[in-house]
Amino acid sequence: MLIETHAHLDYPDFANDFDDVLRRATEAGVSRIITIGTAVESSQRAVELAEKYPNVFAVIGVHPTYAQEAGEDVITPLRELAKNPRVVAIGEIGLDYHRLPSVEAAKQKHIQVFNALQSETEEQIEAGIEDGAYKSKQAELFEQLLDLAVELRLNVVIHQRDAWDDTLESLRDYGRQVSGVFHCFGGTLDQASEVIDLGHLVSFTGIVTFKNGKQVRIWRRSRFAENAASRPTRDWSRKRSRKLAVLH
Ligand SMILES: [Zn+2]
Ligand SMILES: [Zn+2]
Repeated sequence: MLIETHAHLDYPDFANDFDDVLRRATEAGVSRIITIGTAVESSQRAVELAEKYPNVFAVIGVHPTYAQEAGEDVITPLRELAKNPRVVAIGEIGLDYHRLPSVEAAKQKHIQVFNALQSETEEQIEAGIEDGAYKSKQAELFEQLLDLAVELRLNVVIHQRDAWDDTLESLRDYGRQVSGVFHCFGGTLDQASEVIDLGHLVSFTGIVTFKNGKQVRIWRRSRFAENAASRPTRDWSRKRSRKLAVLH
């Protein structure tokens, strides 16, 4: 059985030929699709799709890059949405430092990216402060969503980009209270081991086919890959009877 574990079916890209998208997936042997919310409204749409289509299930959460615009309280509406039996996990959640304010500002001005710690100008100091605020907003949201996952006994789908240490640090605080899958994993073998040691899973995607996906291919061939392949059903079903298989 093939299960697509990470789709964003609520995105407008699919709106025009949604039924065809589902039909092509079925024809290709994909019997279930997990659609992932990236904000409260997107999570709401994910749940609506899951209610409408029997082979679609929803994961609800707020993507870290939407942390700034997320509003004061995302937990109350998400907790409400999670009552729907079609919701199978919390996600995608995590940390993403790929577009720090300082980097974006530097890009706009066509100047070289600077390191805020070694900065001297007032502008650079300001950018460093903005980066700090951006990161702590994401961390705060990540923590709230992890707390919600613990409260509801749901697993999590983790998004991590350029924020490895902080992501692992946040998760370490939760120990075995929460289990997640690092989706679209592109890290090293050591990083994969770290994730697995903490009780989480990693997922491969098309990255294995990239030229620079060498690390992932090494990982894929390693003994950990065998471990991970045999773990999903068991781990993901421990907390809820609904099963999610991790295929990519
Ligand atoms: Zn995603
Ligand atoms: Zn992601």
